Amino acid sequence: MSNSSNLKIGTLTIHGGQEPDPSTGAVMTPIYQTSTYAQAAPGVHKGYEYSRTGNPTRHALEKSIAALEGGKFGLGFGSGLAAVDAVLKLLKPGDEIISTSDLYGGTYRQFTKIYEDFGLIFRFVSMDDPSNVEAIVSEKTKLIWVETPTNPMMNIIDIRAIANVAQKAGAMLVVDNTFATPILQRPLEQGADIVLHSATKYLGGHSDVVLGLLTTTNSEIAKKLYFIQNSAGAICGPMDAFLTLRGIKTLDVRMERHCKNGAIVAKFLRDHPKVEKVYWPGFEDHPGHAVAKSQMSGFGGMISFVVKDGTFENVSAMVSNLKVFTLAESLGGVESLAGHPASMTHAAIPLEERLKTGVVDGLVRLSVGIEDADDLIADLENALNQI
Ligand SMILES: *Cc1c(COP(=O)(O)O)cnc(C)c1O
Repeated sequence: MSNSSNLKIGTLTIHGGQEPDPSTGAVMTPIYQTSTYAQAAPGVHKGYEYSRTGNPTRHALEKSIAALEGGKFGLGFGSGLAAVDAVLKLLKPGDEIISTSDLYGGTYRQFTKIYEDFGLIFRFVSMDDPSNVEAIVSEKTKLIWVETPTNPMMNIIDIRAIANVAQKAGAMLVVDNTFATPILQRPLEQGADIVLHSATKYLGGHSDVVLGLLTTTNSEIAKKLYFIQNSAGAICGPMDAFLTLRGIKTLDVRMERHCKNGAIVAKFLRDHPKVEKVYWPGFEDHPGHAVAKSQMSGFGGMISFVVKDGTFENVSAMVSNLKVFTLAESLGGVESLAGHPASMTHAAIPLEERLKTGVVDGLVRLSVGIEDADDLIADLENALNQI
C-alpha cells in the first residue's frame, strides 16, 4: 500500500507495506528463498543484488512493521536480541545508556556481559518515576532504553515523559514494544526514536518463528541501522519473514481476544482465595493504570500473580498441574503459557536481587492465549485447588 498512512491499524496489519507480487500478481508475498539475483549487465538489476543486503520477502515485512508503528523505515533481524545488538552498534566506547532496571533478561545479559566489555556504560534505574532518569542523565548519555509494560512485574513507564528527558539530553529513546504490540501502543507517536520488537512473541503469534524488528522515522538513524544490518549481517531469513508477515495479518483480532481473555483471567485470579496479588495494568489500583490508559488502547494478555503462602515447591507443582496452559518460556502465542520466573526466566539472578524486583518464589507469569476463557479459568482453578 503506497499511501498507507490514513488507513486504520486493522487494515494495515493486512495491507501495510504489502502489494501483490509485481512479477506474478501473487496476493501473498512469496518466500524469495534465494541468496542472489541475476543482473542483465554489471550493476543492472531489478533492485536486488544479494539477500543479506535486500530480499523481497524481508522487505515486505520491514515495510509492514514501519506501517504498523507509524515509522518510515523497518529492519528485520534473526532474533529480537540481534535487533538489540544492532541498536547498540550505533554507540561508541564511553557512551552511556540509561536503561530501565526491570528489563528482559536476555537484553540485560547482552548489555552487561557483552557490551560492557566494549566500553559502553550502562546505568539501570526504576523508570516508574521519570524523575529517576532526569536525575542521572549526563552529556555522556546517548541512549535511553525503555520496556513497557515490563517483564514480569507489569510496571508501566510513561513514554512521553521519558521522551522529554531524552530530547533535552540529546539522547535517543528506544522502546521495546514486544509486550504491547503496535495494536495497543505506538511509541514513535509518543516521542521514541526507535521501536524494537521480538517478533518471536505477539507479532509472529504462533510460536513458530524467532525474529526481531526495528522501526524508526528518523532517516539518519535508519541509514546507520541499514549499514549495520548489512555489515554485521544478522538478518532474518525469507521463510521466517514470511511466517511473521502471516502472523501479523491476524494481529489485530488476536490482540482483541488476548485483551478480553486477559481481563477475565486477571479478575478471576484477584477474587481467588489462594491468590495474594495480581499484577495487571488494567486494574484501577495498579500504580501505572492512569499512564497505561493514556498511552495504551488495551491492557494485553500478560499477567503475573503471587500465590498466597506460595513456596518454591508448591508453586512449581501448581504450574506443572496446568493442562490447558503449557509450562514454557516465551509469550505472545495463540496458546496460553505459564511460567515460574523464580525457577525459569529469572533463575540466574541472585536471590537478593530477584526478591528486590518482586520476583518472589510464589510469582507466576501467564501469557493468556486466545482459547475459550472458560477453559482457562477452569484450568487455573483446578491447579490452584491442588495446593
Ligand atoms: C523475547 C524478548 C526479547 C528477545 O527476543 P528474541 O526474539 O528471543 O531474541 C526482547 N525483549 C522482550 C521484551 C522479549 O520478551
